[in-house]
Order: sequence, then C-alpha cells, then structure tokens
Amino acid sequence: MHTDEILKTLEACYPDAAPALHFGSPYELLVAVILSAQCTDERVNKVTAELFKEHNTPERMLALSQEGLERYIFSCGFYHNKAAHILSASRDILEKFGGEVPSSREELMTLAGVGRKTANVVYAVAFGGDAIAVDTHVFRVANRLGLAVGKTPEEVEKGLCAAIPQPMWSRAHHLLIFHGRRVCHSQRPDCEHCAAAPLCAYYTGGKSPAAPAAD
Ligand code: SF4
Repeated sequence: MHTDEILKTLEACYPDAAPALHFGSPYELLVAVILSAQCTDERVNKVTAELFKEHNTPERMLALSQEGLERYIFSCGFYHNKAAHILSASRDILEKFGGEVPSSREELMTLAGVGRKTANVVYAVAFGGDAIAVDTHVFRVANRLGLAVGKTPEEVEKGLCAAIPQPMWSRAHHLLIFHGRRVCHSQRPDCEHCAAAPLCAYYTGGKSPAAPAAD
C-alpha cells in the first residue's frame, strides 16, 4: 500500500484543495452541505448568497415556511426534501442545543435530516475535527486507487481511517475530492495525465478504471 506516497502526490497536485462552499458560521455550513447533495458547490454558493442575507440563523430560517424556503433553494434540486431537512435541523438546533450547532459528530448526527456524511463535513470543516466524509468523489477515487476498497461509503470511510493517520483525515478528504473533480472523473478518468497513476491499483493492475457507484 502506497498511502503516504499517494497523499504526497495529491498534495503536490492540489496545494489549493480546500472547501468550496461559502459559509460564515457552522450553521451556514450545515445548510450549505445539506443543499450540496446532488448539486454543484457553485450553484449552492449562488443560492446561499441570497438565502443567508436574511436567513442565516435557525430562528431566521424558521421564519420561512416550507414553501418560502423552497423558493430560495429551488435550483439546487430535490428542493422539497432539502427544505424539510433544513427546517427540521433548525428546529432541533433551537430546541435541543440552545440555538447553537453542536460541535460533536455524535450530536450532529442526531439532528433531523443530517446524515453521517454531512455530520463529518461540518465536524471537520466548521469545528476542526478529524473526519473523512465520504461523498461520491471520495468513494470513487479511494476505491480506484486502492486506498480503501468498499461497497458502501461506511466501508470506505472505515478503510480510509485505518489507512491514513488521524491528523491527515480531513486533508485527505479534500485531496481526494479535488482529484475526483479534476482528473479521476466518474465516466472518463484521465489516467494518462494522472500523477498518481503509477500508484493506482486499477491502473497498475491493468483493470478498467470503473468503480462502484456511490450515493
Ligand atoms: S490512474 Fe486513473 S483511475 Fe487511477 S486515480 Fe488516476 S485517473 Fe483515477
């Protein structure tokens, strides 16, 4: 296993790897991450730029009706479910946590509409915790490289956490996302221009760089 070498190679390729969602508080990040499911970060940033002008706290969000929130977030897709999740989580934050987004992963996961991936992102990015959120890019790239092989995001998260030193977890998450977005694409991975190709299990194994679908 070339875990260290792979991470060093990706670090050299993507020194700029960083969260792309715009946010000014843990609450804003939580809302942005919920909106980002099946949607580009660019689109989410456009939507939240308007939404957060007036509705950037749980109280202010709950001042919107389900329909009122849907009008803001319509272009993110799955707007009905996303609006319901944002309002439920906002209610939980107010009623169970005194209006502050909880800072532990376990408490984050108790919020209505907040799954493991969303909790991991907020825990790592807003609170500086060590976590690897496995989204579709992390899932695909980790499987292809052989960093962690698994059929579910939970299996891949477990494998990555075992293979990578804990202080590197959050950084590895961003590096794998960038590699997935820029080179190791879902349909046509650009193996010919991939700096990690000599270390890649699929590439060196001569296999098709297909990987199980995630999400
Ligand atoms: S060699 Fe190909 S499949 Fe492997 S990480 Fe690079 S782009 Fe992805």
